[in-house]
Amino acid sequence: MRFLITNDDGIHAPGIEVLARIASHYGEVRVVAPDTERSGVSHAITLFKPLRLREIRPGWTVCDGTPTDCVYLALHQLDLKPDFVLSGINPGPNLGHDVLYSGTVAGALEGAHWGVPSVAISHCSGDENEIILFEQQLTSLLPRLLDVAKKVGGAVNVNLPAHNKGPWKGIVATRMGQRFYSNEVITRNDPRGRHYYWIGGASVHMPDIEGSDCNAVRDGFVSITALGDDLTRPGALDTMTAQLSSHGPEFSNT
Ligand code: MN
Repeated sequence: MRFLITNDDGIHAPGIEVLARIASHYGEVRVVAPDTERSGVSHAITLFKPLRLREIRPGWTVCDGTPTDCVYLALHQLDLKPDFVLSGINPGPNLGHDVLYSGTVAGALEGAHWGVPSVAISHCSGDENEIILFEQQLTSLLPRLLDVAKKVGGAVNVNLPAHNKGPWKGIVATRMGQRFYSNEVITRNDPRGRHYYWIGGASVHMPDIEGSDCNAVRDGFVSITALGDDLTRPGALDTMTAQLSSHGPEFSNT
């Protein structure tokens, strides 16, 4: 089995080291990951500057682009032919709306876009040093995650409960929930007296939605969500068609 591994926290983050070690129990590992932290870049692709790849140790290639760039170049330039793309392990959850901002999830979505079953893995604690506490459990869990990803044929988003939730209570298939951050913006002055702004939003509201990823992790379960790249709003097509036809023909050839 061949694995392509990426992340959005940079190639030197502890999480990717743990993930590569876990995957190496099951097959050959190639890492292609960003040179610096790219959390929150979503599915960005770099089109207007050149990208460089450098192998920093055997099988580990650093890229000065986004997680999407890494997967794209790994598949189409390095010509790796992975059986799976793994992305992570991200310190901090990717639940509900986080998925739309996440570079970790985008790494998996990019793999799935090119037909490779892909798994994004996040750990619901901000402490990246906690990831290693789950190495053994995640090593046992990985074959099940790979089976699920292969079966659903796309990207699977996995969230592991934080350590303070105690031992995992199980693993559940979920749908995306909702997660709202506070609208905090911190304003400071730079050394030349000009304002700069830092988007914060530490406090989080997660509505209680049965069957959601947020609820699963809140209750101490490992959450796995199958993600697609079709963002069409369910049910809206019929509403729009009806709404448009209620106005009558918009254009005429006269
Ligand atoms: Mn990250």
